[in-house]
Amino acid sequence: MPATPAWPPRSAPRLFVDQPLEKDMQITLDGPAAHYLLKVMRLGEGAMLTLFDDHTGDYPATIIGADKRRCTVTIGDRLRAREEVPDIWLCAAPIKRQRFDWVAEKACELGVRRFIPVGTARAVVDKVKEDRMRAHMIEAAEQCERNALPQLADFTSLGAMLAEWPGERHLFFCDERGGSSFRGALRAHDGPAAILIGPEGGFTDEENAMIRDLPQAVPVSLGPRILRADTAAVAAVSLWMAGRGDWS
Ligand code: SAM
Repeated sequence: MPATPAWPPRSAPRLFVDQPLEKDMQITLDGPAAHYLLKVMRLGEGAMLTLFDDHTGDYPATIIGADKRRCTVTIGDRLRAREEVPDIWLCAAPIKRQRFDWVAEKACELGVRRFIPVGTARAVVDKVKEDRMRAHMIEAAEQCERNALPQLADFTSLGAMLAEWPGERHLFFCDERGGSSFRGALRAHDGPAAILIGPEGGFTDEENAMIRDLPQAVPVSLGPRILRADTAAVAAVSLWMAGRGDWS
């Protein structure tokens, strides 16, 4: 007897929709989602896809009608509930746009729960394009099968962030000028955590002292080489995921 094919097939497109989904609902997709399905993937009536909504989970969907710019889909039985991602935040000073978009994309793929863009004295970038960053995170979630998007916090200053820092959350401060080994620090500090990465020019002495004054701060080293800020962010999140996250 032939095996029953998985439904929808793993090769089916997987897209985020910005509205809560439920079984038997019919929704109309337009804009970039419809363009991708109809023009890029050349799908038509009867084609299957997977949708997720960042609220309830992943669902199979079938195209039941399409014109040039829109398609209507019907939603099937939920495939997977919204997942619980590890409790790790990434706080990072903005760097040049494409590199920061890359960090946002990788943070999503690696499993970061919350991303906080932090303004610092030496940052060469003082604005964040939140829509672009969110678009990069959505694209990453679509391809890596994540169904809970990272929360993107408002751009905040380092001082404001530290002033409101939650009491129970460790802040692993990545400091190229000295800190304990990250692996050792992870063994000693479990529970909710965040990683702090500075801008291309690093933190000023005053900022460094202010961060170290925070009782929840744990200064850590990422080794003897000075990493670019984007490399440091990915390295630190990977270390945390391997030691305390869901990679084990
Ligand atoms: N201070 C340098 C400068 O003036 O260019 C380098 C800053 S580094 C490019 C940017 C950020 O990456 C730092 O603020 C730090 O958070 C992190 N970083 C880079 N290398 C690191 C290391 N070996 N250990 C810990 N953190 C590091």
